[in-house]
Amino acid sequence: PNTQYELLRRRIYSNTNELWYFVHSRLLDIQKRASEVAPELVDSIAYLLSLGLEHKRSLIYDVEQLTEVDGYATWREKESNDLSNLVQERFKYLQNPENCNTAKKLVCSLNKGCGYGCQLHHAVYCFMVAYGKKRTLIMKSKGWRYHKAGWEEIFKPISDTCTNPSGESVANWPGNQDTQVINLPIIDSLSPRPPFLPLAVPEDLAPRLTRLHGDPIVWWVGQILKYLLRPQEKTANMIQETMTKMGFKRPIVGVHVRRTDKVGTEAAYHGIDEYMAHVDEYYNYLELKQAVDKRRVYLASDDPKVLTEARNKYPHYEIIGDPSISKTAAVSTRYSDSSLFGIILDIHMLSMSDYLVCTFSSQVCRVAYEIMQNYYPDASARFRSLDDIYYYGGQNAHNVVAVWPHEPKRSSEMTIAAGDLIGIAGNHWNGFSKGRNLRTNQIAFYPSFKVKDKIETAKFPNYSEIYK
Ligand code: GDP
Repeated sequence: PNTQYELLRRRIYSNTNELWYFVHSRLLDIQKRASEVAPELVDSIAYLLSLGLEHKRSLIYDVEQLTEVDGYATWREKESNDLSNLVQERFKYLQNPENCNTAKKLVCSLNKGCGYGCQLHHAVYCFMVAYGKKRTLIMKSKGWRYHKAGWEEIFKPISDTCTNPSGESVANWPGNQDTQVINLPIIDSLSPRPPFLPLAVPEDLAPRLTRLHGDPIVWWVGQILKYLLRPQEKTANMIQETMTKMGFKRPIVGVHVRRTDKVGTEAAYHGIDEYMAHVDEYYNYLELKQAVDKRRVYLASDDPKVLTEARNKYPHYEIIGDPSISKTAAVSTRYSDSSLFGIILDIHMLSMSDYLVCTFSSQVCRVAYEIMQNYYPDASARFRSLDDIYYYGGQNAHNVVAVWPHEPKRSSEMTIAAGDLIGIAGNHWNGFSKGRNLRTNQIAFYPSFKVKDKIETAKFPNYSEIYK
């Protein structure tokens, strides 16, 4: 298929959702107001909301059907496999140099002072820089807060041949070309910043990725996680056994509820009903396509009370989850050895779900979403975040390009000329996003459908020598 066609198909899909976010949220406002000043209108508004939603579902259904009838389904599967094989091969080559004694290395310590999701993202960032600099990544993980004996007991070593961090010359980032070993700091204190940081994807893959995938950076992060998270046999067995025991079965929606230390500091509180409303809608939609025997949810949370609450409130749902899988509400023990299997399992099951409902402010859910990309040619639309849009901690500015002009109709709205670049801060899931117009410096709301994502690229090496 040509790229234009794929972009248009995805654009119609997301803007159908945006149209409904807008109309739905406005109608709710009007309904609330009507109940005070014009109660006779409440019913008609409810009618609009209900039939309007059916309209939207039908449009989404049709555009989704396109991917099945346009004849490109096989191509998408194959292209997705080919791209994955291509980069996985490069990763293997990079990580297994012929001579480790002379190989150029980049050294990272896994133990960033943060949670598991955050540490995985730290490792992925190290890998991106290693790939960009063509240096074998050495990851120090002895004494890891999640498993004292180190990464290699849980996951396969990231190299079979080269794990020794020593070398002839050692320097801290940036070092220079000839330095054999360079130590990389955490992304928060990285200076100078190389071009290889998110949201940039390798330029040589960008045309293919833009055609295949709705959010190339998420694909790229997912590929690195695929390489890093190859489980040891013991880990794989543990995951398999738990999934069987829990009765993990499709269809299933993954719900992640992040509470405890995050609420009030880095994220707002969201009640379980808010998550479940989106789960309900997912299943209402799914029932247009297939019979659903049981509405199933995999519920992960750092707060075990959430599971009990959800099961009590939603008895017609089958809610899978296990508050006892070595997770604990106490912050002191959360970031520790005993909680590792709990979080590995939760992330795995979330990523294996058909759809994710969560807060993207949590790295746990973002990691699950990234891994999910490995199971579909394009899983970029299989989520609903209650707060942030997707981002990568420490990323460069996320810019979008205006495709339509906008004349403000309210004082909170932005003036836009087609072609303007806008730094996006967030989607408010009501038809509007907030951002800064880079031409005018105005910070304001703009209709989300009036822009498109700007795909960032960087000149990573293309590893052409592998095929010589
Ligand atoms: P964030 O703080 O939510 O952005 O994500 P981090 O991964 O950096 O830190 C949160 C930590 O809390 C995780 O690494 C886990 O140890 C724990 N945690 C959060 N949510 C869950 C969950 O759903 N299940 C389990 N088992 N642990 C969780």
